[in-house]
Amino acid sequence: MSGREARVWLPGSLDELWKIWSDAPDAVLYAGGTDLMVRRRKGGPLAGSDLICLERVADFREIREEGEEILIGAGCTIASLMDHPLVRQNFPVLTQAFKVLGSPPIRNMASIGGNICTASPAGDTLPPLYVMDALLELRRENGLRRIPIREFITGPGKTDLGPGEVLSGIRIPRLPRYNLHHYEKVGQRNALSISIAGLAAIARISAERTIEDIRLAWGSVGPTVVRSRNIEKALTGKPLSSESMEAAFPLVDRAVSPIDDLRANARYRRILARNLLLRLPFRGVHP
Ligand SMILES: Cc1cc2nc3c(=O)[nH]c(=O)nc-3n(C[C@H](O)[C@H](O)[C@H](O)COP(=O)(O)OP(=O)(O)OC[C@H]3O[C@@H](n4cnc5c(N)ncnc54)[C@H](O)[C@@H]3O)c2cc1C
Repeated sequence: MSGREARVWLPGSLDELWKIWSDAPDAVLYAGGTDLMVRRRKGGPLAGSDLICLERVADFREIREEGEEILIGAGCTIASLMDHPLVRQNFPVLTQAFKVLGSPPIRNMASIGGNICTASPAGDTLPPLYVMDALLELRRENGLRRIPIREFITGPGKTDLGPGEVLSGIRIPRLPRYNLHHYEKVGQRNALSISIAGLAAIARISAERTIEDIRLAWGSVGPTVVRSRNIEKALTGKPLSSESMEAAFPLVDRAVSPIDDLRANARYRRILARNLLLRLPFRGVHP
């Protein structure tokens, strides 16, 4: 680096953002900084880069209904989303994930957009967003494109974000048919820990307790979130029971590809991926 102090900009609108970015095209975006600042402190190419903080861009902090969808601004903090009635009422699986993401100070700073763009296999908002088929809105100065989250995240820490592009919003369809909403992660301790394995599930359960429709997504057991249509198909039409889940274990084994790391080994993660299915709320669903 040149040795000069890094510059930091705080645009208040999208117009200001484009203007600043065209004058400083190498500047790196951030929102809460809870991921980026940690990476900067470790050195590497990010250490001395100029920064553009998205915190004050009003368009990125909105939450609004648009027909059958709800649009969440990428800059919304986890804490603000946890308390938002539209999010709480429509997306309980996401609210459950917010509650176990970091600690209150982290949730006050961290944004949902930052969690997505970090693209960590352990990112807590990702499995819920995969089961809800969230659509991401990416903006550049002269355009907007929409892309499903499963196509946006291309590997650990890797996304399809192009140069000059910013994640502006997350579009999630309302899912009124689903009456089971569940997110659980296993960490090294009960609170404030990064996921060793996690499972998001939404399902439609009939009055006779049959699984009419189910969507499942695992975190931390592959390079990206694992969603398996084979498992979902195999469980459809089956009773909501531990026996049905156990019958799907061989399919879970085939779908996941965990690694050994500091937090856990691959074998343990495989066991967790299966057993998380047994933690679905078999008795707590009301048709
Ligand atoms: C102590 C601690 C505990 C944590 N615990 C958890 C946990 O339990 N679960 C979990 O999932 N995460 C956890 N994290 C990680 C982190 O807090 C989250 O990933 C958080 O959501 C990141 O959001 P942010 O706004 O701070 O991202 P930032 O650090 O601001 O940005 C992260 C990355 O995303 C990019 N980015 C941010 N916003 C945009 C945008 N709108 N468009 C394009 N690119 C963008 C940045 O350039 C950067 O590369 C933890 C972090 C810490 C420090």
